[in-house]
Amino acid sequence: MIDILSLDYEELRDKLVELGYERYRAEQIFNFLYKHRIEDFSEITVLKKGVREQLKKEFFIYKFKSARSVEAEDGTKKYLFELDDGLFVESVLIPMERDRFTICVSTQVGCRMGCKFCATGRMGFKRDLAVSEIVNQVRYILKDNNLKTANVVYMGMGEPLDNYENSIKSIRILIDDRAFAISKRRITLSTCGITPMIERLKKDLPYINLAISLHSAISDKRTLIMPVNEKYPIDEVLKSLKDFPLPRRKRITFEYVMIKGINDSKADAKALLRVMSNFKSKLNIIPLNKHDLLGTKFEPTPMDKIEKFADYLRNKGMFVTIRKSKGSNINAACGMLATKVS
Ligand code: SAH
Ligand code: SF4
Repeated sequence: MIDILSLDYEELRDKLVELGYERYRAEQIFNFLYKHRIEDFSEITVLKKGVREQLKKEFFIYKFKSARSVEAEDGTKKYLFELDDGLFVESVLIPMERDRFTICVSTQVGCRMGCKFCATGRMGFKRDLAVSEIVNQVRYILKDNNLKTANVVYMGMGEPLDNYENSIKSIRILIDDRAFAISKRRITLSTCGITPMIERLKKDLPYINLAISLHSAISDKRTLIMPVNEKYPIDEVLKSLKDFPLPRRKRITFEYVMIKGINDSKADAKALLRVMSNFKSKLNIIPLNKHDLLGTKFEPTPMDKIEKFADYLRNKGMFVTIRKSKGSNINAACGMLATKVS
């Protein structure tokens, strides 16, 4: 049986042709899978019953074993999806201004990168998600909330560039006009910076938004909180970002989780300034979210100090935002996506 939600358009078309169907059937089926978000082939009413029956024999439509959601006071909704092997992943739906929504998706159960402040990193690596498991997070949440479309950010559990093929293929399905038809400008991939994969991304999927988890512009310090910096040092990452093709009028986002006494000094701000002035970029400061797996070593920087840090950079002409932590009362904020269930 073929996992139909893991196929891109060309793969589905070729498979259908191989089975003796007309090529245009692929477009019809994509439309039903991603616009109508059907759960069973019998819902494809434009197809004859015999055809629907045969599809059922060849393909299956991936479904989460179970799904739960909790809503925070600010309207953020956290989804907990159970996979076939009993592992869980989380996704978050975040309301934005003007009736827009952002869906934050996961690409792995756990993460290999081991960033010290991150709950997902602390839980270790379990496995990569299949394309269908990534795509279905978006499909499920759009359907559950009766939404036509949403921005999608690859900022949930896992490192998308460490599950490169599946993450990229899932984005291809999101942007396909015959499927979700989400504009590339509305997709953001966040990475801790795996240089060779950034190089591949430039060729495979240019013109999506890119967010780099920087967290320190001082290399030795970055290694202390992000072990990945040893293998892929920040200088190399930045070099490869130089000619990254972004959507028009968009900037690279540098994410900066601010941790008390670790990366919030004047010297840290100066180092950031040196990095940022080389790029059309913006800095997104994320006040550290506390969670059970964090221990006592890491504390958030007080807000007045964060504001001063931001103002220093703004006065030098940098674009700086401070993320208001959404959904922190339901552990749906960034870096909180470690599932306690297992
Ligand atoms: N692996 C990718 C994408 C997922 S992490 C990456 O690291 O970019 C999404 C963002 O949440 C990253 O910027 C990450 O550093 C941040 N984050 C992790 N732990 C956090 C915490 N405890 N508080 C606030 N943000 C955190
Ligand atoms: Fe992985 Fe990103 Fe967490 Fe680092 S911050 S451990 S790369 S999920």
